[in-house]
Amino acid sequence: MVELKTKASIDAMYEAGQVVARALTAARKAADVGVSLLELDEVARDVLREAGADSPFLGYRPAFAPTPFPAVICASVNDAIVHGIPTRYRLRDGDLLSVDCGALLGGWAGDSAISFTVGRARPADVRLIETAERALAAGIGAATVGNRIGDIAHAIGAVCRAAGYGVPDGFGGHGIGRHMHEDPPVPNEGRPGRGLRLRPGMVLAIEPMLIASGKDGYHEAPDGWTLKTNDGSRAAHAEHTVAVTEEGPRVLTERR
Ligand code: MG
Ligand code: MG
Repeated sequence: MVELKTKASIDAMYEAGQVVARALTAARKAADVGVSLLELDEVARDVLREAGADSPFLGYRPAFAPTPFPAVICASVNDAIVHGIPTRYRLRDGDLLSVDCGALLGGWAGDSAISFTVGRARPADVRLIETAERALAAGIGAATVGNRIGDIAHAIGAVCRAAGYGVPDGFGGHGIGRHMHEDPPVPNEGRPGRGLRLRPGMVLAIEPMLIASGKDGYHEAPDGWTLKTNDGSRAAHAEHTVAVTEEGPRVLTERR
């Protein structure tokens, strides 16, 4: 069932979204050569704690997971696509890092992710990340009243494929509200004009995932969480929590 949120609920979700935005900004600022993924998790924990927010990631255990998630961010490096567990790994020059973070504030969830490079960036990574952001923007642009879920999916997939990138099947965006993961699923590829019609008050986490090689294959790492590309090529991920409103899409996790 898809829950429609009132204007007041969307305003409350914006506050949760802004905690996520601040945590991501802080984690990105702290990320540098030699900094560990666990240290970035600490940075995000501090932002959530100061805001009085809880983490929907910490202790999360979906059906596929062998263990509860142990952190407040996912930190996915290079060939990791999403769901990377923060470890003692220290960032190296030229790494491509995706950080995903969520917050629960006042009973509402926010969910957002950014990808960026550490140290000297490879031009191929810069292009991959820019395309992820463009795909996200295209998906957000399609999140308008009267459109359908398939229009968002098609907008995302078209940007990724036109740039020659792979799109991992089976993982994508989702509805969000009181819980981080709600209906409907928001795939990263699809046919325009298909699927659920978008109505005012729907709130969606839109999150393209791109594989540099153009191949779609991925697998689960031995930790049971991290999704990695099959061919070892790099991946990027970008995500915002977006409300569908009469005035157009409203990005609740916008970073200012
Ligand atoms: Mg996320
Ligand atoms: Mg999400």
